[in-house]
Amino acid sequence: MRSVFFPRLVNGPFGDPALYVRLAYRGEALLFDCGDLHALAPGDLLKTRLLFLSHAHIDHLVGFDLLLRTFLARDLTFLMYGPAGLAEQIAARLQGYTWNLVDGYPFVLTVREWRTEGIREVTFPASQAFRPLSERLLPCHNDVLHETPWYRIRASRLMHGDIVSLAFSLEEPLHIAIHKDALERHGYVPGSWLVRFKDLILRNAAPDTQVMVPLSQGDLRSVPLGMLRETIASTEEGMKLVYVTDCSPVYRNFRRILDLAENAHILNIEAMFAHRDLERAQQRNHLTAWQAGRLAYLAKVARLQVFHHSPRYQRSPEDLEQEARTAFAGEDSPPCA
Ligand SMILES: [Zn+2]
Ligand SMILES: [Zn+2]
Repeated sequence: MRSVFFPRLVNGPFGDPALYVRLAYRGEALLFDCGDLHALAPGDLLKTRLLFLSHAHIDHLVGFDLLLRTFLARDLTFLMYGPAGLAEQIAARLQGYTWNLVDGYPFVLTVREWRTEGIREVTFPASQAFRPLSERLLPCHNDVLHETPWYRIRASRLMHGDIVSLAFSLEEPLHIAIHKDALERHGYVPGSWLVRFKDLILRNAAPDTQVMVPLSQGDLRSVPLGMLRETIASTEEGMKLVYVTDCSPVYRNFRRILDLAENAHILNIEAMFAHRDLERAQQRNHLTAWQAGRLAYLAKVARLQVFHHSPRYQRSPEDLEQEARTAFAGEDSPPCA
């Protein structure tokens, strides 16, 4: 399957958690957590439109100021999702600055908290000195926080000590593959029209919608969407990328992670401690590398990426990754705790 999500750990496995995911063909990116973001090129940062925050521990949120600084003078709305209580935390953070010179600024920060009764949305316009302006409750079905024709985000609540840490699944609703040989056979020249063609399918456009297709002879032909779909494309289940971090190593969390990550193409999961330090992992409410790999194995994920390693393992940086890989390969007896 040709990838549509391109994830990158901004600070590597030992740095602050921040997963930057570029979306193919959209010129946009999503962020999962925002630890230190200085390693991101300004151009990449500017492509971000959405942030999904697991929880508000400082290592996951310290990059917020750089995001705010980057977007402050721009005419856009930045959306931030996170657990209940986030709006008050962001309000307090925003009020820590002086905002007397931002009167005409069109930038708006919107915070959406996932609560049991739905999604609570609070908006913070720059022009109002980031005072919370409006509030409403949005419905949430099947744990889906955000949905567009091209992707949706589902979430799950994990326990991280006595707070909630959200895990996220980024899902492509339908994967559309284009057959190059069919394009050639029909004399269709590949180009940006294929993005529009895919968009029309994902938006459930009528089969008789006309698509202008450039031909190898140099002219254009109007072809009905339904006919194009039959001749040049095939569809399959979409791609799935799952992000799991900061959760206590307890059965209830394991169950929820397995549900969320089942058959994921990519699982990004924390591996804070080595399994020989399981007791410490339990005290600190984090997973061990072996647990991370075992969960990936049981969820039948295709690709595993572990991160959020404790600095105590920096002297042998490959060990946690190796431990997770062993479990991911199916080894079912953990290293001695
Ligand atoms: Zn953390
Ligand atoms: Zn934490």
